[in-house]
Amino acid sequence: MLILSGKDLSAIVKAETAGKCRLFENRFSRKPCLAVVLVGTDPASQTYVRSKKKACEELGIAHLDIEFASDITQTQLLECVADLNANPLVDGILVQMPLPRHIDELAVTEAIDPAKDVDGFHPQNIGKLLLGQRSLVACTPKGVLRILDHYGIQTDGKDVCIIGRSNIVGKPMAALLMQRDRNATVTVCHSRTKDLASYVRRADIVIAAVGCVNAITADMVKDGAVVIDVGINRIPDPTKKTGFALKGDVDYENVSKKASAITPVPGGVGPMTIGMLMENTFLAACYREGADPSEFGGAV
Ligand code: NAP
Repeated sequence: MLILSGKDLSAIVKAETAGKCRLFENRFSRKPCLAVVLVGTDPASQTYVRSKKKACEELGIAHLDIEFASDITQTQLLECVADLNANPLVDGILVQMPLPRHIDELAVTEAIDPAKDVDGFHPQNIGKLLLGQRSLVACTPKGVLRILDHYGIQTDGKDVCIIGRSNIVGKPMAALLMQRDRNATVTVCHSRTKDLASYVRRADIVIAAVGCVNAITADMVKDGAVVIDVGINRIPDPTKKTGFALKGDVDYENVSKKASAITPVPGGVGPMTIGMLMENTFLAACYREGADPSEFGGAV
């Protein structure tokens, strides 16, 4: 059984991206720049934003940090996004989700210039992804593909079962895998799927993005399947300094006995998401400068 370490792979991706960013800086006399917008004081969002800024610093990507109190109005936030869209030095804009309830997340997402949408959530980028056109691709599904590629797991002709149909994971994951360069046969399951196990059991590759501990158990998975666990669930754990442990959606202990390969949580898909965000920022910077990213070496 192969453990698919996103932690190890993200270190490789980050080192490659750091090298490309150095070449970018040599050529354009500036670093790629990511604007990170945080609204409120949600601890999980603060942690994510901290990790993203830290990754920028490690890789030689400039970051512009903007923080607002949770009572900011939607108009004020949209004005901030408009300013960042107009700022020629900003290549990528990340507004950390979730936003407070009085703010329409879709309106904020749609306000971001698609060329700076490094999360890949803008309807224009999602549409291009579906059409198989070049776009900034959502980081988590892109990270899953990078794991499969790195470990030599073919998707051509494979049955893939994705559990979860969110706009940020399940749907873009399905769109990527059904493209002609991937050729997977994709089934997307959700909370209204009848007899979930029957679909999961048929799959050569299972991708769980549910948000529920032990949603995928060993009896649901066929022998030799590849299992990708996107889920990140915080479980109270007084033995941990943080007060919680991170668990995926898959019953790792038992499923790993049947799977041919599996991602752990933590250390699987999670670190890849940040790696792909850094790569998308580099890509956005290249496209904005009219440069071909492949000129800076390596695959992108
Ligand atoms: P989400 O928007 O809550 O979507 C969850 C999906 O799972 C929905 O489509 C839902 O169905 C489906 N679902 C819920 N219960 C189910 C059940 N019992 N059986 C089958 N399907 C069920 O979540 P998300 O944003 O996609 O995130 C999913 C998980 O991935 C979360 O744990 C999140 O923290 C994690 N995540 C991790 C990363 C990373 O970097 N590793 C990035 C993003 C998200 P309905 O559509 O019918 O409600």
